[in-house]
Parts: sequence; structure tokens; C-alpha cells
Amino acid sequence: MNIVDENLITTDPVPYLSKNGIQASVLRLDKLHPIISGNKWFKLKYYLKEAEEQNRHTIITFGGAYSNHIVAVAEACRIAGFKCSGIIRGEEPETYSPTLKTASQCGMQLKFITRGAYKQKIIPEELKSDGSYIIPEGGFGELGALGAATIPYDKNKFDTICCACGTGAMVAGLINGKTQKQKVIGLSVLKNHTGLEAEIRTLLINKSETLHIIHDFHFGGYAKQTQELIKFMNDLYRDTKIPTDFVYTAKLFYGVRQLIIQNNFKPGTKLLLIHSGGLQGNLSLQKRTLIF
Ligand SMILES: *Cc1c(COP(=O)(O)O)cnc(C)c1O
Repeated sequence: MNIVDENLITTDPVPYLSKNGIQASVLRLDKLHPIISGNKWFKLKYYLKEAEEQNRHTIITFGGAYSNHIVAVAEACRIAGFKCSGIIRGEEPETYSPTLKTASQCGMQLKFITRGAYKQKIIPEELKSDGSYIIPEGGFGELGALGAATIPYDKNKFDTICCACGTGAMVAGLINGKTQKQKVIGLSVLKNHTGLEAEIRTLLINKSETLHIIHDFHFGGYAKQTQELIKFMNDLYRDTKIPTDFVYTAKLFYGVRQLIIQNNFKPGTKLLLIHSGGLQGNLSLQKRTLIF
């Protein structure tokens, strides 16, 4: 399925983080596509393939009003020629978020359901049909992890891979795809997501794998931010020209920088940070908060 061009991804050194004998690089998945950005493509691709193989004509998925997953599905379906519906958590807002506007412009039919119904993943009657195919929220599932395992980087060049975790599907895929010598570290962007490790484990091929998940850099919780985080994003951009999003990748970069400062990595470590995209999320910040 030719929806994105994976050749647009680059691996770049990050001198800003290359301190204390560490060599840090970034995998720029954010360059993949302006809307289907970053890890979302990898988590989606096998679901879309299966939907096509099963001759389904409509994709249904779930997400919040600012969800990177929702816009990615909307745009991927537009390109691939699927109809699609997004089941959105909560009441229909008077003004749509930039995310919902884009999703709707891509042709996604939006269906707002109560938080209670959303929790139970109830599909409204009018959306049910034999021709529809359901992609789980955030692409979390076996096919999502299978796709994340194909995130392309040079396995001989890096011994430590760091990424942000929401549902944990990406980190599970990276673990499934790594070599025995490599270590994958996930930084959770949710507060008190105590079930995360167990959820990740459901997607692991090797169930006895040791997990390395860090819960210290959520900045107050999912999609929460502080002045300190915003300042960090601007400093990072000034120094490296790498734009980050405040929901996921800024917390990853900030956390990794702290881990380096605190000497959590051995000198000589070849570190790869996964820039998983998500820059559209910054549109929900006030104008001029960021210098990029
Ligand atoms: C969705 C998302 C993640 C989290 O991926 P999971 O597989 O849900 O852990 C990380 N970064 C960005 C930019 C995302 O959009």
C-alpha cells in the first residue's frame, strides 16, 4: 500500500544530547507525512492491509478530540480509498479542535459518544455493518505491534532505543523487533499508568522479556504541560532544529536528557531516540507559545 514514503525518514545525530560519553541520534519518523505522522503509520499499516484483504469498505476507530491516531486514520483512509468513521470521546464541541477539523476534512465521519459509552467501546448501531473493519483505539493490538516492529533503523548502529509510550503498542513492537544485544526503554506520558507494563506484555513475543518503562516524565499527565517543558521544546529547537510535540516527543527528549545527566547510561552508549511524530498536537497550544 503506497500511502507514505518511508524513504523520507532520516537518522540524524543530536549533539545536544551527546554528553557524558553518549552518542545520541534521532530517528525522524515525523518526516514521514504531515498528517499520518510518525509511529501511527507503522501501527496502522497491517490493519489497513487486513481490511483490504477482507474486502471491507469502511474503517471504524476510536479516539479523543486531539488524537494523532484519529487524523492519521482519516488521512490514510482518504488516500487508500476507504470510507471511515471516528468514534470520538465526549460531547460534540461547539468549535472543533484542529485535529477534528483535519479529520473531518479528510472525509472521516465523526460520531461523538459519552465518556461512559466510550469506555466500553460501544459502536453506535448506525455504524455497524458487515463491510466495516474496526481498528482498536491507538492501534493497540497484535497488528499494531507487528507494524511497529518494522520501524526502520540500523540495528547494528544503536544499542539503546528510547521512545515515548502512550498505549505501549510501539514499544512492544520495538522490543519484538530488536536484537538480543539491544535494550528498548519506554517513557510513559501518562500519570499513574500502572497497568502499562502488563498491557505491553500482552503484545510481546517473548513473554519473559525484562521491561524498561520509566514513569517519571509525564509532566502532570497525558497532554499536560508546564512552562519548563515548553521552554525545553524551544531550547531544543533553537539548538538542534528538531521540533517536538508537547504530548509525547518533548517528554521523551526531556526525560532522556535527564537520564543522561543523571549518568543512567554507560559512556559509549549509542542511543537512538524515536521521534514518533505528533506535531499536529501543538496546534492546540496558544499561538506563539512555540518558536516553531
Ligand atoms: C500515539 C503516539 C505515541 C504513543 O504510541 P503508543 O504505541 O500508543 O505507545 C508516541 N508518540 C506519538 C507522537 C504518538 O502520536
